[in-house]
Amino acid sequence: MAPGRCDDREETEEKKSREMISGQVPVAIDDIEYYGWEVDSKIKCFHGLLPVRKVAFDGENTGRRFIGCSCEDETSCDLLVWYDPEWPGPLKRALQQLWTMLSTQEHKIHAELDSLFRTLESGRGRQHGTAVRKTRHVDRKTILDGLRD
Ligand SMILES: [Zn+2]
Repeated sequence: MAPGRCDDREETEEKKSREMISGQVPVAIDDIEYYGWEVDSKIKCFHGLLPVRKVAFDGENTGRRFIGCSCEDETSCDLLVWYDPEWPGPLKRALQQLWTMLSTQEHKIHAELDSLFRTLESGRGRQHGTAVRKTRHVDRKTILDGLRD
């Protein structure tokens, strides 16, 4: 094989691996077959810690395995190394459509809950307005958390 050809390939591989580590860290879930510490790689997260294996649960990347920071939520750094390649176009569009459907349902439920709580508040009158509002906040969160489980 000509050296030029070889260099081209290396460049492409390098470009590919750069693409694999770019992008915003998605919401993730633990998968029974792909979770735990990424002990075999030399990669460390931006905190200098051993990364963990995760599965994306977010839009068109849903189900795509990646390596990310072991810290949770806002303390998590931006380490993102994809294990799976990008999904094919039809799968990406199908996943996006499912998330849109879910979001539409969530908005409907929010609107119904708002309407129910408004009815409840007007029934109880102004005197207990504050107490009802506090209850409403907790109930709504509890209900929505329940829907996600
Ligand atoms: Zn980190």
